[in-house]
Amino acid sequence: MAQLEVILVPALSDNYIYLAHDLDTGDTAVVDPAEAAPALEAARQRGWTINHILNTHHHGDHTAGNLEVQRATGAPIVGPKYDEDRIPGIQIALSEGDTYKVGNCEAEVFFTPGHTRGHIAYWFKDADVLFAGDTLFSLGCGRLFEGDAEQMWTSLQKLRALPSDTRIYCGHEYTQTNAKCALSVDPHNAKLQTRAKRVAELRAAGKPTLPAILGEELLTNPFLRADDPAIAEAMGMAGASPVDVFAAIRERRNQY
Ligand code: ZN
Ligand code: FE
Repeated sequence: MAQLEVILVPALSDNYIYLAHDLDTGDTAVVDPAEAAPALEAARQRGWTINHILNTHHHGDHTAGNLEVQRATGAPIVGPKYDEDRIPGIQIALSEGDTYKVGNCEAEVFFTPGHTRGHIAYWFKDADVLFAGDTLFSLGCGRLFEGDAEQMWTSLQKLRALPSDTRIYCGHEYTQTNAKCALSVDPHNAKLQTRAKRVAELRAAGKPTLPAILGEELLTNPFLRADDPAIAEAMGMAGASPVDVFAAIRERRNQY
């Protein structure tokens, strides 16, 4: 069984950069380097050498460290084919269904537009790890900057079909605000209430709320339940299409 050790590196105000280290070979990927210095320092502290730079999408808070990490390490820059022209230094461009290996751990690539038109997610199948970027957040989902609700809903449906023990590493620490919005949609969900409480405790202790576990998200993240009649009803939209329900929840989240 391929084993991937994942380290969270907080960056900027609420971003996470990730280091993904293959225990067999020592290969190490940095995922979405918002800044180079904290990523390089986190690798140095562990005696790891970064030899892959992975991007989920073109936004600066996910790519601004690309070139500096590359100067320091020589690692290739990998990202979405669809946004090739907007990813600094990209050398390996990936599309839906492509695979990419970090040591012995292989990632499958999902095309997940909605937040940006070219967003991708990396699923390290054997390690049960998903780097979701700004598509799926814990108890939430990314803002629709370049895509529409239909695209994002389609993207989320791909991700929610993964095995329920998948660990989800998202681009931002938004869980606590997401929880407030989720509770406004789904106030009687006991699992959501319990989670919101745990999230508040973690944040009060200055701890990350990630990774999220997909199985828990399926029960508590209203964006993944836009086709659940109970959620449509809770939104006052009984009988509406899942895309419309999804769009309304996303609209509500913008008010938080
Ligand atoms: Zn973004
Ligand atoms: Fe972001």
